[in-house]
Order: sequence, then structure tokens, then C-alpha cells
Amino acid sequence: MQPFPISLETPVKFPGPLPDQADVVVIGGGIIGVSSALFLARAGKKTVLLEKGRVAAEQSSRNWGWIRQQGRDPDELPIMVEANRLWRELATQTNQDIGLRQAGVTYLAKSEAQMAKYAAWAPIAQELGVDTRTMGAAETAALVPGMSQTYAGALHTASDMRAEPWVAVPALAGIAAREGACIVENCAARALDIAAGRVAGVITEQGRISAPEVILAGGAWSALLLGSQEVFLPQLSVRATVAATSALPLITEGGVADDKIAFRRRADGGYTLAPGGFHELFIGWNALRSLPKFLTQLRAEPFGTRFYPAAPHGYPDAWTTPRRWLEGGISPFERMRVLNPPPNRSRANRLKGQFAALFPELPDFDLSHTWAGMIDTMPDLVPVVDRVAALPGLTLGTGMSGHGFGIGPAMGRILADLAQGKDPGHDLGRFRFSRFADGSAMRLGPAL
Ligand SMILES: Cc1cc2nc3c(=O)[nH]c(=O)nc-3n(C[C@H](O)[C@H](O)[C@H](O)COP(=O)(O)OP(=O)(O)OC[C@H]3O[C@@H](n4cnc5c(N)ncnc54)[C@H](O)[C@@H]3O)c2cc1C
Repeated sequence: MQPFPISLETPVKFPGPLPDQADVVVIGGGIIGVSSALFLARAGKKTVLLEKGRVAAEQSSRNWGWIRQQGRDPDELPIMVEANRLWRELATQTNQDIGLRQAGVTYLAKSEAQMAKYAAWAPIAQELGVDTRTMGAAETAALVPGMSQTYAGALHTASDMRAEPWVAVPALAGIAAREGACIVENCAARALDIAAGRVAGVITEQGRISAPEVILAGGAWSALLLGSQEVFLPQLSVRATVAATSALPLITEGGVADDKIAFRRRADGGYTLAPGGFHELFIGWNALRSLPKFLTQLRAEPFGTRFYPAAPHGYPDAWTTPRRWLEGGISPFERMRVLNPPPNRSRANRLKGQFAALFPELPDFDLSHTWAGMIDTMPDLVPVVDRVAALPGLTLGTGMSGHGFGIGPAMGRILADLAQGKDPGHDLGRFRFSRFADGSAMRLGPAL
């Protein structure tokens, strides 16, 4: 299997060269940018995708690999249902096994109070024909055998899936390239080229490319690029640590989580482990400026995030990261081609102990890898998917808030339609950019 996550050591697969003109330029080679480029190319648009490092090297290869409808915001759910269908279709077009399996997702409830929360969400899914249901204690124990703990019950969606992100996202990029998208790795977008008050192209480290439409899908870097264009986006990035076990006997094929630990089986027979509801925020200028918008989230979950006074050098919101740079000069994007935060070792080791304690019958195992990713998160835990009124010609798809891998193909399809002026086919009101500026209260997406 391909090593994971993807890093700067991963060979360049998409060298370009950079054309001087396109119908649409997409900035960012994660699942959102790659899917956007794929659907634009499929629509016959001359598409160029710029990636400062490697395709999928940031969040899109570092995630847990859950493709879940379960627990989604009601306004995301119809889009996620479409994404499930797209994943199945695209998996047949990649000419390789991306590890896509319908294995289900299960949330374990320790208390009746938690069960009641799950039971309240289930009808939202059922209304859309999604097969979510609640389970009692005995059925839960049978679905996930060998647990040392008894749970009150579970929420389960059998049609949810998993895939190996570090294989899947480059494979989708392969389809996009085959269908005509020009993907250029090692090519940072330094600035938008603005002429007569609208987007006219992108200034990259390899030169200028003209285009009447640009999609920004820059993940944790989106706020920095927008800020340099005088557009404020209240977006934070938080570190999330992940650990992979060596191969182990089968417990269950799907993704399972309680309030302390989440795990899912990988195609190589190991399990990917992560702490439930634990994130780390490095404070910087954008975090301070965004704080008022994040107060609702902080009040709702005061202990879910650990704070540090400063991010390491070169991170998007480090105190020393320049917020403006000269057009011809090096930008922060190429100074940090791959945001590769070190994992929180003590958390990773704790995960190993928690997993072993939950499944005492398992043989001894090692953690074969540990890694971390910076999740780009929004104040209300749902993304921005919208045209940017202040910069005509710019479409924004960012802030997937920790659940953008599964929904990525459908968000990409929607962004491609928005950039072409087509009806995206879903109500995107919840994801409008203006909600941060028009006095709207921050309505939190479900923390299920
Ligand atoms: C630990 C972890 C676990 C997760 N688990 C899940 C899960 O199980 N299921 C799920 O659905 N989601 C999960 N997520 C969230 C999911 O990974 C993200 O929401 C998704 O990958 C975001 O995709 P993206 O394309 O928006 O951003 P990214 O994948 O971060 O990609 C953005 C890309 O833009 C590039 N870029 C930025 N600025 C520039 C520039 N100026 N020029 C050129 N390139 C630029 C970056 O280099 C980067 O490659 C998880 C995330 C993490 C970190």
C-alpha cells in the first residue's frame, strides 16, 4: 500500500507545466479542489489546478477515511447522499482499488441521555431515505464484538463507507487529469490577479495565469490568501492527532466511535485510531480576530480544545507569518509546501492503551504510524460554499470543519457548477459566506 500520509518526500506526480490561460483555475489540491477540477474538466472547461506541495498532502491524506452521512448537519445531508453515490461511481473510474467499502458507521452511547440525542437525529436521515437506525445494548455488542465495556446502545448507518484517503484523493486527481485537467504540484498561488474589480487570473510562483473564474479550496490556508486580498474569513485550524495500529484480527469492518476514541479498519488490516472530541488550537492573529464568531462553539464545548499561545513557525496563523507579501516575492504558501504538524505523542500513546483496554482479547500490537493534520474549521462547524461577492469571479469552498473528505466529491461538483454559473441543485443558504458579516447568530452543526 502507498505510504501515508502524503508528504514532501512523495514524488511529484503532476508536474504541469503551467499554462498561461484557463477557463477556471482551482487553488488547492485536496479533495475539494481535486473534485472541483474533475467536474470542471468533465464539463469541458479548460481547468488548471494549483497545489503548492503535493495533491492530498494536507488534510486530505491525513483524515480517518470515514465517508459518513451519519451525524451530519441537516443541510449537508442531501449533499452527502449525493457524495455517497459519487464515491461509488468514481471508484469504478479510478482503475485502482481506493479501499472504498460499505462498512457502516456506528456511534456508541454510554448513557440513555446520549442515546436520546442519537434517536433525535435518526429521523433527519430517515426522511431522506438514509438507513440510519438506533440499536439496543445487545445488538450493539453483537455488531462490535469483544468490547470490555457495555454500551446503552448505538446509532448506526449501514450505507456509510470508508476509503483509504491517501490512495483515493490522488486517484481522483488521476481521473481529473485523464479528463483534461492540468494539475501543477509545487506551484503556489501567491495572489489573485484582480483587474477592473474582478478576478482576472492568479499570480503563481511559476508566473501569471489568466482566467475569468477561480475556485479557492485552500483548506487551512484559505483565510491567509483571502486576508491578503482584504477579505476576512473567520477560520481556524486545529491540530488533530491520529495513530495507526499494525494489522490485527477483525473486530468490525466499519467506523466506530464513543466519546473517547474513534477507530476504523483499514484495507491493510490495521486500525486507524483517534481521540474523540480533542483538538489543539495554536493562537494567532486570525484566531484572535475570529474569536467573537467562535464564542458560541467555545461555550457549547468548553473543554474540547486545548490552547497554545503560538503556532510553530510557518503555520498559516503563526504570529510571524506575513499577512501581505510582494507580488513577485516568495509567499508563505511556498515556504510551507506541506503543513505536516507533529502528532501529540502522549495522546497517540494514550489511544493505544484505550483501544487495548476496550478490546482486551486483541493480541499485543504496535502503533505503526502516528501523524497529525490541521483541520480547517468554521465558527458554526459547516463550510463556506459560495461565490465571493467582494471579488467577482471567485468561488470559495473551504472550512469543511473536519468532515470534508466524505462529502468532498459532491462539494466539488457543486463548486464546479457555481463557477460555471449553473444551478448547483442544492440549497446552499446555510453555507453562504455572508453569514459571518450580516449579524446572523452562529447556529452550530451537530457535534454527533
Ligand atoms: C485528522 C483528521 C481526521 C479527519 N477525518 C475525517 C473523516 O473521517 N471523514 C471526513 O469526511 N473528513 C475528515 N476530516 C476532514 C477532511 O480531511 C477535510 O475536511 C478535507 O480533507 C478538506 O479538504 P480540502 O480540500 O478542503 O483541504 P486540504 O485537504 O487541506 O487541501 C487544501 C490544499 O490546498 C493547498 N493550498 C493551500 N493554499 C494554497 C495556495 N496558495 N496555492 C496552492 N495550493 C494551496 C494545500 O497545500 C492543500 O493541499 C479529517 C481531517 C483530519 C485532519
